[in-house]
Amino acid sequence: MYHKNKNENPPALRKIIHVDMDAFYAAIEQRDNPVLKGRPVIVGGNPKGRGVVATCSYEARKFGIHSAMSAAQAIRKCPHAVFIRPRKEVYAAVSRQIFAICQKFSNCIEPLSLDEAFLDVSEDILNLGSATRTAEKLLETIHKHTGLTASAGVSFNKFLAKVASDIRKPAGLTVIRPEDAPAFLEKLPVRKFFGVGKTTEKKMHSHNLFTGEDIKAMGEEKLKNLFGKAGKEFYAFAMGRDDRPVMAQRSRKSIGREVTLERDIRDTGAMLAILKTLAEDVEASLVRKKHAGHTLTLKVKYPDFRSATRSMSFPCPLWRAEDMMEKMPELLARTEAGEKAVRLLGLAISQFPDTEQTKGQMLLPFVFHK
Ligand SMILES: [Mg+2]
Repeated sequence: MYHKNKNENPPALRKIIHVDMDAFYAAIEQRDNPVLKGRPVIVGGNPKGRGVVATCSYEARKFGIHSAMSAAQAIRKCPHAVFIRPRKEVYAAVSRQIFAICQKFSNCIEPLSLDEAFLDVSEDILNLGSATRTAEKLLETIHKHTGLTASAGVSFNKFLAKVASDIRKPAGLTVIRPEDAPAFLEKLPVRKFFGVGKTTEKKMHSHNLFTGEDIKAMGEEKLKNLFGKAGKEFYAFAMGRDDRPVMAQRSRKSIGREVTLERDIRDTGAMLAILKTLAEDVEASLVRKKHAGHTLTLKVKYPDFRSATRSMSFPCPLWRAEDMMEKMPELLARTEAGEKAVRLLGLAISQFPDTEQTKGQMLLPFVFHK
């Protein structure tokens, strides 16, 4: 009898690196101004206003300071810290330098922020022999060219690679091999799971879920009942399954506006009124640039500085404030806004059709509706 699968090899395991610069902004400041070396350095907003810590040096972390903490609180914890306003252009330039280096090591890179990326190195383009060797060489090269250190995690999926990069920071490399994954995941605290924030962590604890082992033992069905779709993902992660591909960056472009509020608000009506003014600004910008995009994204930030983004995609590209606002209540309802106060609101349009032809077509509605 013919067996369809007889000659098929099992799918090859992927090799993924997660690379993450150490205390990125603060490290750049210390590199560029040697007087700051060895001192607690905080890069962030104004400690006298509503500023937030963007990054702090490892010396500052010893005082319990961390990113997203209010700058005022940080200065109380460490009054002799050196406070520096971010030099965004400088950080962006270093970031470009780092991504150019990453490109020598992989044809498939997904940037997560200025200082963090996934690299799919399943294909050994430099013939270095292993993903571990590739990661070592990557960290060496970054250090040689920028004078900065990074940490990396190597594994067979994104979730494990990302968790791994955090284990030996700074300047560390951690490899989680397939055979080590089950034991590693069993001991992993739930907070380290992708998608588990403070709120979900609390809920998990209340159901006696503390580690990956507990998640595994609870089983997929029960997790789904408790956490919905996310529950299914938590179970898959605990089993070492994460098929999310490394997404080489498509058009990164988006047009958006955001505003940090003078004071936190809880009234969703007031939030929508603010979002409407942002939507009108975005519309003006889209019209000016002759753009329209398929995806609408809402961003909120809560008083504890956690933020959430919710997106919706549409078959027809969007550009009118009116159309954005029609969907806004639904997007807002998918966040915790209202139950919780918010301190920042933002809105963006992305996923622009990129051919000149569709761009031309987009011009028509501007002419007829305006
Ligand atoms: Mg980092």
